[in-house]
Amino acid sequence: MNAPDRTSQGFSTRAIHVGSEPDPQTGAVIPPIYATSTYAQDGVGGLRTGLGVGYEYSRSGNPTRTALEQALASVETAGGEPTLAMSFASGLAAEDAVIRTLTRPGDHVVLPGDAYGGTYRLFARVAEPWGVGFSTASSDPAAVAAAIVPGSTRFVWVETPTNPLLAVTDIEAVAAVAHEAGALLVVDNTFASPYLQNPLALGADVVVHSTTKYVGGHSDVVGGALVVRAPEAPGAVLDPHTHEPLADRLAWHQNAMGAVSGPFDAFLTLRGLKTLAVRMERHSATAARVAAYLSEHDAVSEVLYPGLPTHPGHEVAARQMRGFGGMVSFRLRQGRDAALKACASTRTFLLAESLGGVESLIEHPGAMTHGSVAGTVLEVPDDLVRLSVGLEDAEDLIADLDDALAAASA
Ligand SMILES: *Cc1c(COP(=O)(O)O)cnc(C)c1O
Repeated sequence: MNAPDRTSQGFSTRAIHVGSEPDPQTGAVIPPIYATSTYAQDGVGGLRTGLGVGYEYSRSGNPTRTALEQALASVETAGGEPTLAMSFASGLAAEDAVIRTLTRPGDHVVLPGDAYGGTYRLFARVAEPWGVGFSTASSDPAAVAAAIVPGSTRFVWVETPTNPLLAVTDIEAVAAVAHEAGALLVVDNTFASPYLQNPLALGADVVVHSTTKYVGGHSDVVGGALVVRAPEAPGAVLDPHTHEPLADRLAWHQNAMGAVSGPFDAFLTLRGLKTLAVRMERHSATAARVAAYLSEHDAVSEVLYPGLPTHPGHEVAARQMRGFGGMVSFRLRQGRDAALKACASTRTFLLAESLGGVESLIEHPGAMTHGSVAGTVLEVPDDLVRLSVGLEDAEDLIADLDDALAAASA
């Protein structure tokens, strides 16, 4: 029996089935790990197309990676238009492909004033020495508009919510500002995941993921992805330099630069993606409880969580997201030492970088994930603590924080 048309089916059905239709030969319900670098050809150029597409070499294509890419494309939607996803060895490898596809020396980009430290480092320490200039702007559309250099700015980069300050950007408004000036909009959707937010449907041109985080979801694999409108989509955009469809150019660079995910990594990431919806529901529900608890705590001066009605981006987040996610940051009244002490005192929250896994993590961004932006405009407050709220029982997580905050204020 043929598979039904999945495009009209719901998020979880697509995440579980697209790319994973049973293996035509064996009936295996999960795509195998195709641990192969090359593929036998039936005569020169005679690629075997038993799986629908032909394969010649695993940098260019591998069936396990294809399964993941098809599933990612099906969940990172563009308001009904077809999308194309590409899987990379890490989130930063995916970002690098965007930068080197869309820019040439002399071009300019607009970056957020608050973002993942590694993203800023890639632009400031790798791309800029090669001649790509940048300005930073807050999440305010007017500030983005002012930072654009007409004729030179190739794209505006947005991360929403941001890492680690959970600032929210109005994607639709910034897309309008970027497009008005002839620039594209790239959105890092790592914190929200495709379950909570679909930037392409809100007008963005490229979506970036660190699939290491929520998409993988189990802290056992590093990966990245790009999703764009497919070349045949009515809203497909063109590469600003070659005027070819951007999806084709990015796919070409994925192969030409070679930072692809291997089949074992693709397998783990696809396994994670299948449960993304249920995980994000629980991450969001528990994070809301943790944020409410922290808001009442005397040792805490500020809680940064878009789900709180007091959060400056709450209204925009409520409009463009389907939930508020599992990341919560907060600041300690007693400053840096108390923040470091709190991070060192939890016993269920593990002190570690990264996020989005089933286990809860705590960290001090100033000294850990965002150490590379110290002394730049992206420097974060030193009394800041970031939580990745996992899937443990909310009561246990809150009790753990309660003990740690008592230890930190003693
Ligand atoms: C982790 C992260 C990245 C980088 O991804 P890697 O998989 O670590 O290379 C990019 N953006 C955000 C928001 C991240 O959290």
